[in-house]
Amino acid sequence: VICCCNEASNAGDRTLYKDPNHPLNRRINDLMKRMTLEEKLGQMVQIERSVASPQVMSKYFIGSVLSGGGSVPAPQATPEAWVDMVNELQRGSLSTRLGIPMIYGIDGVHGHNNVYNATIFPHNIGLGATRDPQLVKRIGAATALEIRATGIPYTFAPTIAVCRDPRWGRCYESYSEDPSIVRAMTELIPGLQGDIPPNSRKGVPYLGGQDKVIACAKHYVGDGGTTNGINENNTIATWHQVMSIHMPAYFNSIIKGVSTVMVSYSSLNGVKMHANRDLVTGFLKKNLRFRGFVISDWQGIDRITSPPHANYTYSILAGVNAGIDMIMVPYNYTEFLDGLRFLVENNFISMSRIDDAVKRILRVKFVMGLFEHPLPDYSMTKYLGSQEHRELAREAVRKSLVLLKNGDSGQKPLLPLDKHAPKILVAGTHADDIGNQCGGWTIQWQGQSGNITSGTTILTAIRKTVDPKTEVVFSENPDSGYVKQNGFSYAVVVVGELPYAETNGDSLNLTLPEPGPGIISNVCGSVRCLVVLVTGRPVVIEPYLGQIDALVAAWLPGTEGQGVADVLFGDFGFTGRLPRTWFKTVDQLPMNVGDEHYDPLFPFGYGLTA
Ligand code: BGC
Repeated sequence: VICCCNEASNAGDRTLYKDPNHPLNRRINDLMKRMTLEEKLGQMVQIERSVASPQVMSKYFIGSVLSGGGSVPAPQATPEAWVDMVNELQRGSLSTRLGIPMIYGIDGVHGHNNVYNATIFPHNIGLGATRDPQLVKRIGAATALEIRATGIPYTFAPTIAVCRDPRWGRCYESYSEDPSIVRAMTELIPGLQGDIPPNSRKGVPYLGGQDKVIACAKHYVGDGGTTNGINENNTIATWHQVMSIHMPAYFNSIIKGVSTVMVSYSSLNGVKMHANRDLVTGFLKKNLRFRGFVISDWQGIDRITSPPHANYTYSILAGVNAGIDMIMVPYNYTEFLDGLRFLVENNFISMSRIDDAVKRILRVKFVMGLFEHPLPDYSMTKYLGSQEHRELAREAVRKSLVLLKNGDSGQKPLLPLDKHAPKILVAGTHADDIGNQCGGWTIQWQGQSGNITSGTTILTAIRKTVDPKTEVVFSENPDSGYVKQNGFSYAVVVVGELPYAETNGDSLNLTLPEPGPGIISNVCGSVRCLVVLVTGRPVVIEPYLGQIDALVAAWLPGTEGQGVADVLFGDFGFTGRLPRTWFKTVDQLPMNVGDEHYDPLFPFGYGLTA
């Protein structure tokens, strides 16, 4: 087919691929024809920001950069500093012969959580409790604005894992044990990327504007089903189970135009997903017609062998031939590029496999308008942590709370709490701690206790909500004598898990960490008490239930603790319902709704009103 260039185009540079008036596929093909092998292979590499520089970008034709788990420019960097950093690297990419822009990615998994002052939304488990996909969609749109505010166009979210065992350290990143809830919450994708036009074709990457970001459905597939919830381990499942439990959210993600999919570290029936050609190329790309790009997890192809990186040439071969298009953080990117080139030049990896990968990456970049708008400016910085977004997060917190107990039978319920009580006690390690409220993936990969970013703690929110005449006494870990003698009308005890992420969160016993149990018995033995749990999952609570008058699961609510007080004091009702089964003892695990032997403490879907 002979085509002439568009004479009418008034773009300064008439090179076909640079001209947005040409159809997408023609631009991709035109650019592909101009690219050398080296330029193509570079597109397939995503390096960590700490090793990136304009020189590295241009020398190796690097396709993408990420801030991995908490690798931020500085803990309190301004949005302008982020924009500058992205631009500096981008200029390196633009200085190459073909000027192909790089794409910058980050883990914005509950808001733009690597950035100081951003709005931190509840982690996914709390959003699962809301049963409100439209709310999740609005959170996606707000998160997109905050991420764009820092010049970044790509986030590694949503996690659409169906966590089947709360011992898994990533359980809080999963909306639910129930596949239909997880599937519904893929509404985050049109929130992040924008609404897909009704006539658009399934499987095609999509972006609705420069105020949106590219999404990533992760981790494909079966990450939430590993034996005993051990992170990155093996999921044993029949095809029927894979299709009915772990896959439905991928079907929906693709229908909603998700532009990228991340492969799981885990194995499926003993086969590493990073080497699973049947599922990555065969099922995802061919059967489901996914036309975005497939990205590995961090050093994911290195981990195809055990120990990782034991036979790197084999790992590259297996990973790329499985169908992975972009390699997130190869252990060593120059070694990776050398190995990949060797494999291509010796026909172990076909040129058509490389072309498939590069075309997919370029397609996403074109769809994003990156060629037209590679360099972000400061015009969107106002969105970061805006009042409007904080209001939205507060609404999400309100809707995520699940009331598990409210008095014993025959007793007057404790909730809603009395705003006008003369004197109340607030206790617990999680009452006045933004870091604990946010959990992992906040400022740092693992999260951190303490005053790590701006927001409202639950204690501050309680103080703002009660009658100005009410005395609010805070004591983190009071002894029982003190509680008895002080004549409190009631107490609010806020305890839970300390922040963690990924494997560090794997837990075999799921006990409520100390000093939580001690605080509960000191306080609840002496005065009527409400216990608010700030945890990423159900924990062992049955032994304490007798002492507790009322119990609320607040999950990991994020920066807007006011949402907790809004509901505790009755300004809004409880509407949240358990997104997971609450077990009695860990030896019941795994136990999910629909199981034959289902004997929970609180069943899936449970949630009282006050
Ligand atoms: C996690 C991914 C994450 C990536 C980049 C990995 O350890 O499994 O979910 O997107 O790091 O930070």
